[in-house]
Amino acid sequence: LYIEQDLRAGATIGLDHSQAHFLRSVLRLEAGVSLGVFNGRDGEWRAEIEAIGKGWVSLLVHEQRRPQERSQDLWLVFAPVKRARIDFIAEKATELGVSRLQPVLTRYTDVSRVNCDRLAATTKEAAEQCERLDLPDVREPITLPRLLETWPSERRLLLCAEAGDATPITEALQKIAGAPGPLAAMTGPEGGFAPTELDALMQLPFVTPVSLGPRILRADTAALAALTCCQSMLGD
Ligand code: SAM
Repeated sequence: LYIEQDLRAGATIGLDHSQAHFLRSVLRLEAGVSLGVFNGRDGEWRAEIEAIGKGWVSLLVHEQRRPQERSQDLWLVFAPVKRARIDFIAEKATELGVSRLQPVLTRYTDVSRVNCDRLAATTKEAAEQCERLDLPDVREPITLPRLLETWPSERRLLLCAEAGDATPITEALQKIAGAPGPLAAMTGPEGGFAPTELDALMQLPFVTPVSLGPRILRADTAALAALTCCQSMLGD
């Protein structure tokens, strides 16, 4: 269970109404039951339900079960898509160990607002489900020119593009296996990247245009496919 509070042996933690409702009415847990809790910073701890009532729960923290771990340094840079699909991207990216979710507004992005609070909530639920102890850093959306201006020069970018000269992603990953430096995968909006945007992205220092196969994937499928390949290479 994800909680905000700091974790240490002997701490007593009160849960908010919705988590209390979840434990009591959905999971039907009672006082005396133990569960794993994490906050993204202090590892996983065993906590015992001290007392539980309608809309409130008090937990007593016991011992640490797992030390804090950090996921691979892998960013997903993506053009936001409509609500259910962006939630899907956030959920799958969390399961696949992404360390940063960076929405980027491109010319053909047809979503003007990204609810980052909801995305962060989705990442927490996904982390609970897949037993991941750290959370992806969910960033506010930025424009493509801003992304280019602020791009860290040492980070390799796998640019998912259906361009004819793109390298199959597995081949590109094999070439960079063992090379130092962090990695990012980038996907475009449903309308694709504009040619001028692709040209600008190709000016970044370590960028490889990659293909995800012969078919045009929806943006959320493309993100999932690219991250699956990255995780299979990075291995954690
Ligand atoms: N009509 C758009 C076009 O022709 O560019 C299709 C865009 S596609 C629905 C959304 C995004 O998914 C693309 O911008 C790209 O980043 C990624 N994508 C989809 N299929 C891909 C493929 N086969 N190879 C690489 N990237 C792909």
